[in-house]
Amino acid sequence: MVESNAQFDFIVVGSGAAALTAALTASVAGLKTAIIEKTDKVGGTSAMSGAAAWLPANHHGKAAGYDDTPEEALEYLRATAPQGWRETEDTLWESFARNAGPMLAFVEAHTPLRFALTSEPDVYAEMPGAKARGRMVAPMPLSRRLLGPYARRLRVSTLPQIFTYQETTDNDLYRKPIRTVLKLAPRLLRRFVGNERAKGAALTIGLLRSCLDHGCHLALETRAVELVRDAADGAVTGIVVERDSRREVLGAARGVLLATGGFEWDRERLQQHFPGPVDRLGSSPGNAGDALRMAEAAGAALAHMDQALIYPCLPTRYDGRLHALPAPIHMEPNAIVVDRHGQRFVSEYAVDLGEAIDRRDPQTGEPLHLPAWLISDRTFLRPVLRWYAHYDPDWLVRAPTVAALAERIGVPAAALTVTVDRFNGFCAAGRDADFHRGESIFQKAKAKGRPVLAPIHHAPYLAMPFNRCILSTKGGLRTNAQAQVLRADGSVITGLYCAGAAMANPIGTRAISAGTTIGPNMTWGYICAQDVLRANRPPAG
Ligand SMILES: Cc1cc2nc3c(=O)[nH]c(=O)nc-3n(C[C@H](O)[C@H](O)[C@H](O)COP(=O)(O)OP(=O)(O)OC[C@H]3O[C@@H](n4cnc5c(N)ncnc54)[C@H](O)[C@@H]3O)c2cc1C
Repeated sequence: MVESNAQFDFIVVGSGAAALTAALTASVAGLKTAIIEKTDKVGGTSAMSGAAAWLPANHHGKAAGYDDTPEEALEYLRATAPQGWRETEDTLWESFARNAGPMLAFVEAHTPLRFALTSEPDVYAEMPGAKARGRMVAPMPLSRRLLGPYARRLRVSTLPQIFTYQETTDNDLYRKPIRTVLKLAPRLLRRFVGNERAKGAALTIGLLRSCLDHGCHLALETRAVELVRDAADGAVTGIVVERDSRREVLGAARGVLLATGGFEWDRERLQQHFPGPVDRLGSSPGNAGDALRMAEAAGAALAHMDQALIYPCLPTRYDGRLHALPAPIHMEPNAIVVDRHGQRFVSEYAVDLGEAIDRRDPQTGEPLHLPAWLISDRTFLRPVLRWYAHYDPDWLVRAPTVAALAERIGVPAAALTVTVDRFNGFCAAGRDADFHRGESIFQKAKAKGRPVLAPIHHAPYLAMPFNRCILSTKGGLRTNAQAQVLRADGSVITGLYCAGAAMANPIGTRAISAGTTIGPNMTWGYICAQDVLRANRPPAG
């Protein structure tokens, strides 16, 4: 535990992927580093995640023969960004593109973590700078025993982490759970006996083990509440933490990193920036925007507050309450997504569906399509659906006809009937003439040769709310390309850094690849620590 009024070189607030990567980088270089986590569990949303990481120009891609360069990654980032973002984000994209590969090499060199490529292409595979493969990696399993007494403090996930991310996607685990378990039985048994876990659990185990080995101090159930600033120049020189209802000051001679995740569990701020219905949250319940409050008090600027990782989810329970379990329920051949007018507005196989669902009226900022619904019929995901519906009896709406279904969910019956008939017509013709479902390189890859169109015509008809499930907000503290926190006038708050979901994410809601949070989050932790190491400030006494 951190001693009272202790002095460190570097303090990271949070224990997710961004925080641990920063702590690892600083501690390997010999900095006296503290990791401060407010919950009684380590790992944050990162530990719960699939840990699929988008890291362009990495050594695994190169070894597998997929040529890639930071320049091509930058070209892709520029080509796929929302209009107007280049002006503010270009230097950050460049910094990320340059550091992603070195970060991964550094992590593998200094931890027991080993990554492997996934089979996914970039989402906008037709755009300049895109790659068909080689940019997405996910960790191989590690034993929880590596964490010793901290093993029971590892944050558990809503996902089955005995499978790797690659096994989950390549075997279509979600649709074929029994077949996948039978196929992988020997290795799953070995993992079970060895207490091994993959995905975000492996990521956290590997990073934390090495942080501890390099002397990092880990303080759980310790909440950062305030920044300590130098009276003369306003530089951040430490933090005030709250533990067991007591406050302590911890000094940080070289810098403080705020890596407290998103602000989604701050209901008020969430409603302010995401007006309209939000179905559920999927992240670690400690993520309540503490970094934003602390840094705003020090004059920090916020940006991209309306951006988030939005993904379709099933209902589940976590920490005793209803929670979001991300699942590709939209990618079923006999399912469509309709808006409040009963009309389709996007290809259901688009991975950046979240952006379409959250599209706003430019005048009012209100969502254009919500409430939205996933519409299907009796044959939709049968065993899976029944299991998850039991968590929330209000979630699944059934009706004997499409018109009756429309009435139950409050959308115009005539419009929904026309939409379903039109979609069924596309199924007969073999082509979605409205939204070209399954036609892009990425959507084809996701369909894996399965049909993408099947008619909705078996009563009873089904509807499920399809509003925003937020896995992590992506708005937060405005930083420069070194992860230093900026004031509104662009000046640097000396000694203060931000990385991960707490920063104004330079990629935003648009899913330009799967894994565009974990990979960049780790990279921004690495970038921050590199800057701390470069900064010429005296070490802790
Ligand atoms: C089920 C699920 C699967 C996902 N899968 C993927 C995936 O495969 N790929 C991908 O790119 N993204 C994925 N995501 C999103 C991704 O996990 C998050 O965006 C990412 O983990 C955020 O990382 P972070 O380091 O910024 O914050 P977190 O990992 O959330 O860590 C923040 C930590 O800070 C702590 N904290 C907060 N306030 C304080 C305070 N005042 N003092 C001390 N500690 C504090 C929190 O308790 C928390 O532990 C997934 C999300 C979910 C929910």
